[in-house]
Amino acid sequence: MSTKTKKNSFDPSSIRTITTLYFMMFAALLLLLVWCLQNLFIDNYYEKMKSQETRQTAAALKAEYERDSGDFSALALRASVNNGVFIRVDDSTGISIYDSGTYLQPSTMAYNFEINSVRMRLYDSNKEEMSIVFNDTTTDAHRLVYATYLDGKGGSSMLYIVAPLYPVRSTISILREQLLYISVIALFIAFLLALFMSTRLSSPIKSITRSAVELSKGNYNVKFNGGTFTETNELARTLNKASYEMQKTDFYQKDLIANVSHDLKTPLTMIKSYAEMIHDISGDNPEKRNKHLEVIISETDRLNKLVSDMLTASRLQSISVELNKEPFDLIEAAEEVADTFLVLNDQDNYNIFFVPCKSTYVYGDVDKIKQVMNNLISNAVKYCGEDKFIKIELKRSGRKIRFDVVDHGEGIPEDEIAHVWERYYRTSANYNRDIEGTGLGLSIVKGILALHNANYGVESKVGQGSDFWFEMEIVKKQQ
Ligand code: ADP
Repeated sequence: MSTKTKKNSFDPSSIRTITTLYFMMFAALLLLLVWCLQNLFIDNYYEKMKSQETRQTAAALKAEYERDSGDFSALALRASVNNGVFIRVDDSTGISIYDSGTYLQPSTMAYNFEINSVRMRLYDSNKEEMSIVFNDTTTDAHRLVYATYLDGKGGSSMLYIVAPLYPVRSTISILREQLLYISVIALFIAFLLALFMSTRLSSPIKSITRSAVELSKGNYNVKFNGGTFTETNELARTLNKASYEMQKTDFYQKDLIANVSHDLKTPLTMIKSYAEMIHDISGDNPEKRNKHLEVIISETDRLNKLVSDMLTASRLQSISVELNKEPFDLIEAAEEVADTFLVLNDQDNYNIFFVPCKSTYVYGDVDKIKQVMNNLISNAVKYCGEDKFIKIELKRSGRKIRFDVVDHGEGIPEDEIAHVWERYYRTSANYNRDIEGTGLGLSIVKGILALHNANYGVESKVGQGSDFWFEMEIVKKQQ
């Protein structure tokens, strides 16, 4: 597998390139929009704004003229000063009766030409007001000249307002120049930002990839580093967990191979040597031969159990197991299992007690649940204390029935309790002892109970013993 990462060479589909490209495109688009807006609309916008303002001033002056409260001159002067416009009023005979220019600037003759043209156009147009923009290309000065009847349409007194449109073009060219600088700076900043962001984003991913390559080589000590982003951190955390789980499985599997090969080898050696003994020595002696055959049979049983445990565990793991669920009497099932162990009371001085309750139905696969009970009781038989005490108890509580197997054995240390349900796990206390086991029994129990949605657990104290239990929902006899 080649997992070489390209170093330093340009990669068009890398996060870095794409983020930078998108960022630049975004900045360019934004600038383009500003350019378009400025070039296409600023002229019109300014003109429109001015003409609206002028119309408002005219309306206010008209109203005052009609009211005739004597404040006209003051109002006109204020409007003229505030808005920077020239205001003129002509009476019915065409004589100028008010001229803000008198106060603003002495050239009362100013704008005469423009005003006359607007007046002519207004007369011709049959409209109530008229405004025209005059362009003076030599001085880059532009004026909006506005005219309206003061005493209603077709009247004789006229109001003129001349609003200079400041040298818009030079303002625009200054703005444009500024915008050019801003564009260059903005694009440069966008490029730096994009580079910074994409580097920050891609570096944890690169680091994770490097660690993954290490992990694929079997280096479980490698740590995944997710950087500062929540998502990459989450990914790193998940990968760290996965790597830890892989390490554990690998360890248990290696351990199992060691255990299983040992476990398989012992009975096989026994079988071989006893078969040889029958062949060489005891073949003609029925008593000895039977004894040796019994050893061979029991060793074969052991082998059988080991192999079938491994098969069950791996089937449960791959969830290819099919359950045959139906309502069954848990007490009856428990009694059948317990009976196979109660013989140990006479054979090996065990003190096994079976404490059932009244017949109770549960819904599940009776054979699998029997296997669970069998595994738990046979563990108690293996790990019980010197008093060889084992209590198998069934108790109803509310809508549940609980199965307990209690022993007075060595118990399980607190930090190992959570692990006993894992495949191939054997507690440190049993690790070197000569107790047969594969570390598969409880993982089978866990797998089956999980498929039944049953609660299960263990309470254990070192030196005092253990209580392995599970509980199931009580159902009616007929479902
Ligand atoms: P094994 O084949 O080793 O018994 P199990 O999966 O059945 O495998 O059990 C896993 C480990 O849990 C055992 O190796 C043992 O250390 C511990 N264990 C299980 N049952 C008991 C018990 N009743 N008392 C003490 N330890 C137990």
